[in-house]
Amino acid sequence: MEKFASPGKGNGLRLLKAVKPGELLYRAAPFAYIVSKKRLGGVCEHCLRRKERLLRCSQCKVARYCDAHCQKEAWQDHKRECKCIKDIDPNFPPDSVRLVGRIIFKILKQSVCPSEELYSLSDLQSNVDELSEDMKEGLRHLAKTLQLYLKVEIQDVSQLLPALDIFQIFAKVTSNCFSISNGELQDVGVGLYPSMSLLNNSCDPNCVVIFEGPQLHLRSIREMQLGEELTISYTETVMPTPERQQNLKRQYCFECDCVMCSTQSKQDADMLAGDEQAWKEAKEVINKVGAPKSREEWEQVLLSCQTLLKSNTSRLPDTNIYQLKLLDLAMDACINLGLWEEALHYGNRTLEPYRFYYPGFHPLRTIQMMRVAKLQFHQDMSSQALETLKQTYDLMKVTHGTEHSLMQNLMILKDEVEAGMLLK
Ligand SMILES: [Zn+2]
Ligand SMILES: [Zn+2]
Ligand SMILES: [Zn+2]
Repeated sequence: MEKFASPGKGNGLRLLKAVKPGELLYRAAPFAYIVSKKRLGGVCEHCLRRKERLLRCSQCKVARYCDAHCQKEAWQDHKRECKCIKDIDPNFPPDSVRLVGRIIFKILKQSVCPSEELYSLSDLQSNVDELSEDMKEGLRHLAKTLQLYLKVEIQDVSQLLPALDIFQIFAKVTSNCFSISNGELQDVGVGLYPSMSLLNNSCDPNCVVIFEGPQLHLRSIREMQLGEELTISYTETVMPTPERQQNLKRQYCFECDCVMCSTQSKQDADMLAGDEQAWKEAKEVINKVGAPKSREEWEQVLLSCQTLLKSNTSRLPDTNIYQLKLLDLAMDACINLGLWEEALHYGNRTLEPYRFYYPGFHPLRTIQMMRVAKLQFHQDMSSQALETLKQTYDLMKVTHGTEHSLMQNLMILKDEVEAGMLLK
């Protein structure tokens, strides 16, 4: 892989050899990362694994860890921030403020960071000139919040280093940070991986980014030629083109002109197929669902999904993206409520639309298949579960690779299914 000037896109990354689908092209440690605010207390601050019982930092009482080992490993990154968190209690900084705090402490240490091998923090684009006035105002506000947050450790951030422009750092973080997801592809954290910021966007990318804890893995999902540019998708791809382009414009300040964006009309029509009134209602319900936690909240969510899905029967195909989101949400709700049979019913209905929208290799499809396999196993449908697991394996080999911890989970599940079949 090497850095090159990609026509019309600034810098990019390209291949120095031909590759097949499923190759691990790069493994990147973060320059800095944090657990997102909404996941605080539920995952380890070091390895980002989810656990029922986590140890609590005795100082700030916020940071949590699997065990003494994870706590010790995380201490260098947490030491100075710990005092700041304690100082502003009971408030807690927004994700970008906490992340920028860690970035500043890291810069002050002036240590060499392997995450800057191809592209450094100072190389990162900030797109300041293209930001809207509202965005700039938002960033100025964050910069002030940061001053308050850091004040016990750093009296005046703006006087720190002449080259350290806080506003610039916030602008860089906004357009360069990666959401870190766990095995189930739920967002758990946010991190900065400067070398990986060289990757340009395509809404039909040839690579995917997968995480193992906070470590980023760049994997190929297509066959590629020597010299070909590597691309990832910055945003969800199953979204009507105008909406997707708007997102890219707002957060990353560019107009996407990839093949998908210029030839999308057919797929856009599929995404919004069916009765317009019906999918608008579905969209509204989906947007209203926050992060249900209690049983009562999940029951409410399930009830609205059931009502809509029933009234949509002859009005929306399952490939309509809002109908598909409803099915996904209903499945989630059922899993949270322990309604396995109904969850499997919804899960099965999503598989064909997933295949339709992610015809090649895509981590979202891999995970969806794995979830369905688990539900089939729960329902004692061993032979179906085994078949689904085989298909999942073929996808996962490419999207995650055989070394990924999720692959170990898959193998354990496969052993369990097979053991169950032998007993019968
Ligand atoms: Zn841990
Ligand atoms: Zn602490
Ligand atoms: Zn595009």
